[in-house]
Amino acid sequence: MDVAVFSTRPYDRRFLDAANAALERPHRLTYLEARLSPETAVLARGAGAVCAFVNDRAGAAVLEAFAASGVRLLALRSAGFNNVDLPAARRFGVTVARVPAYSPEAVAEHTVAMMLSLNRCIHRAYNRVREGNFALDGLLGFGLAGRRVGVVGTGRIGAAVARIMLGFGCQVMAYDPQPDSALEAMGVSYATVPELLAGADIVTLHCPLTPETHHLIDSAAVGRMRRGVMLINTSRGAIVDTRAVIAGLKEGVIGHLGLDVYEEEADLFFQDLSGTVIQDDVFARLLTFPNVLVTAHQAFFTVEALTAIAETTLANITRFEATGRAVHEVSTEKLA
Ligand code: NAD
Repeated sequence: MDVAVFSTRPYDRRFLDAANAALERPHRLTYLEARLSPETAVLARGAGAVCAFVNDRAGAAVLEAFAASGVRLLALRSAGFNNVDLPAARRFGVTVARVPAYSPEAVAEHTVAMMLSLNRCIHRAYNRVREGNFALDGLLGFGLAGRRVGVVGTGRIGAAVARIMLGFGCQVMAYDPQPDSALEAMGVSYATVPELLAGADIVTLHCPLTPETHHLIDSAAVGRMRRGVMLINTSRGAIVDTRAVIAGLKEGVIGHLGLDVYEEEADLFFQDLSGTVIQDDVFARLLTFPNVLVTAHQAFFTVEALTAIAETTLANITRFEATGRAVHEVSTEKLA
């Protein structure tokens, strides 16, 4: 199949090429650096499938352009699909496929890496020691054993985080509309969101971005949290209202903040902007806090995850070419 691959970076090409070369009938992959948008959708002309990533936007105009140019499959290289207008995909006859679980541990381990970095001030210690400053003032951490960790969303990633934190000797409380009985058997206690926010020393977000979870952490939620709480978001940026969280940081309610995602990340992440002036004042403010650690949507970025993403994406395309159905379709059946 002819596949137009949007938002390609050298590492995408490396892993997709390797997985494609292993196929009996490799696909013809055209790598595009451009982000998918109404302006760039035309670049997919002539392709039967488009492959896209988290900050590509597949709204109605893009999907209509796909239908007009013969693109029948949108194969996402991600688990999340909040960037696709699913009712429009159904209307225009574009099948949407995704990679539901490439390496939940990759994201879970990055989440825990952020917790430990923030807690023990590793991000500050690294810079200090390089400058010959071996003083410990300002680097005081706290023990994780016995602390209460609140996991919002206990799907694949949230469950992996819960298991790791249980291993640290933490008490794990969770909220999910569909509780996981295996986690309960391991000692995780489910609670409501307000109970979780009021009780947790560390709140970590692993629910998908939906209309229901948009700005789940707003100023009211910050107001419910324990003073000095650590908040981690490695899920999707818009689950957190960044302005509310900045206010919480200034007031000292939020004691540590770890973000791998940011609601306006599309114009920033996955590119080298070190020689430019950042125009996003909210993001720039975040970078001024000593107790904030930001990584640029990096949690998925392991050899294991990129291998699995490439293999599953190509399997979706191969099956779709052969049968008209992808292996992991995002269901649009209940949509108008
Ligand atoms: P999953 O589908 O396995 O789990 C999501 C869980 O969230 C489910 O158990 C679901 O019941 C629950 N949920 C749904 N609505 C909820 C709500 N309102 N409140 C609380 N929980 C709710 O997904 P996953 O593989 O665990 O991934 C979780 C999210 O992580 C994805 O949606 C994606 O946005 C994000 N993600 C980020 C990265 C990264 O690199 N930073 C990589 C992969 C995934």
